[in-house]
Amino acid sequence: MINNNICFMGTPMIAGNWKMNKGEEDLAKNVAQGTEDRKNNNNGKYIDVVMLPPLTSLGSVIAQVKGKPVSVGVQNFHQKDKGAYTGEVSLSMIKEFAPEVKYAIIGHSERRAMFGETDELVNLKTKKALEMGIIPIVCVGETKEQRDAGKTDEVVSNQVTAALKDIKQEDISKVVIAYEPVWAIGKKATGKCNPEEADRVCKLVRSTVSNVAGSEQAGKDITVLYGGSVSEKNADQYASMPNIDGPLVGGAALKSERFLAIADAFNAKKNG
Ligand code: PEP
Repeated sequence: MINNNICFMGTPMIAGNWKMNKGEEDLAKNVAQGTEDRKNNNNGKYIDVVMLPPLTSLGSVIAQVKGKPVSVGVQNFHQKDKGAYTGEVSLSMIKEFAPEVKYAIIGHSERRAMFGETDELVNLKTKKALEMGIIPIVCVGETKEQRDAGKTDEVVSNQVTAALKDIKQEDISKVVIAYEPVWAIGKKATGKCNPEEADRVCKLVRSTVSNVAGSEQAGKDITVLYGGSVSEKNADQYASMPNIDGPLVGGAALKSERFLAIADAFNAKKNG
């Protein structure tokens, strides 16, 4: 029987999505060094730190973080291994080029909106990532119109359900899900989410995962991130929320000081 007084949660982590940006000079090196220093000062304990640079920076980022306690991922890949897909790169090619790659973002709202990434494609990519031993960071979230129409919960639970379709229960726990309300993301944000609402939807993500997996525990174990204008100024509030394991950071991931300040806020609450 599950003891509901015990807080089972996913892995405390922070992920930085650089998008099509390089960030400050030596960004990866500074984040990696900062993380190592913090770990050393914390008896080896610190939240998992992940950087997701553009593909062309992958080689230099991996070289800069070599031997440091951080992970690297990609922002996109093609779901097939090879073939006539002009301009695309498969995950097996990425792994051949950079075996260190550990994570991949799937279904970011910018890819859903601008590059036709449907729920079906998100599911195919999630399965491909798992098959290749890569941890998928699956993004879900409603648009402003959907929120205004009262459809937030329906949209989010449908996206989570579709992403996890036909995935075995033991693999579901390897997936990271990031709740990112589209209207609260990046420079074009038309509003700000608040920690309580972000937590409420992240809790819904957990219960949806439990339903899909047919196991209450699965929703407790899965790692759930929140993304949408998280900064060093509000990180502490988001970090205080029980259903949020960490942030997915866009703009503030381009400066090591800002990114590490957010990491510190989450580390203090999730790893203290
Ligand atoms: C994002 O686009 O994934 C994101 C969270 O961006 P920002 O932090 O800039 O809102």
